[in-house]
Amino acid sequence: MNGQPLKVSLPGAAYQRGQRWWWRVKLPGEDKPRARALKPEGQKAATKDLQTAAKVAFKLWERAVEEEAQRRVRIDADEKISRLKAKFLQKMHDVSQLVNGLADKEGTGVQERVDGNVLAAGSSYETEETGICDCCGTRDVPVTSLQAIDSGQSLCPDCLTALREAAGSNAPHEAEHTR
Ligand SMILES: [Zn+2]
Repeated sequence: MNGQPLKVSLPGAAYQRGQRWWWRVKLPGEDKPRARALKPEGQKAATKDLQTAAKVAFKLWERAVEEEAQRRVRIDADEKISRLKAKFLQKMHDVSQLVNGLADKEGTGVQERVDGNVLAAGSSYETEETGICDCCGTRDVPVTSLQAIDSGQSLCPDCLTALREAAGSNAPHEAEHTR
């Protein structure tokens, strides 16, 4: 069985200028059609032979396809890198959000634990006898914590500390005497 010769038709238009073959074509990677002389390698002028012209045209096309493919690979690689970079940055953003979120949660947790202690402390003192601080007016101060000062007022531990600190800084001599 005799096969048919494989004919590859190239885009563009081949034409003769004088007797020499030219090819007007938009090669892969080019933005507009351009006329080019179909010069066999190493020759200065376009060929007059159609077969040779076809081979030269095919070579030009092949080279353009190859260069365009390499260019696309480079672009793809660049795009891949940018995508990876963007992904990485997004991940870093997510991580920092996550860290911030954890920090927030931890902060809340601490607050809850503190509140829990306060609540637990409050409930455990409920059965105890409580009084009011004559200084700051805080109610429900356990009487065991209230302390009477010279003036006869009962102070909560906070006010007592504040008073001692004030006495210590304002009247150091007096403080010395009381020791
Ligand atoms: Zn007080």
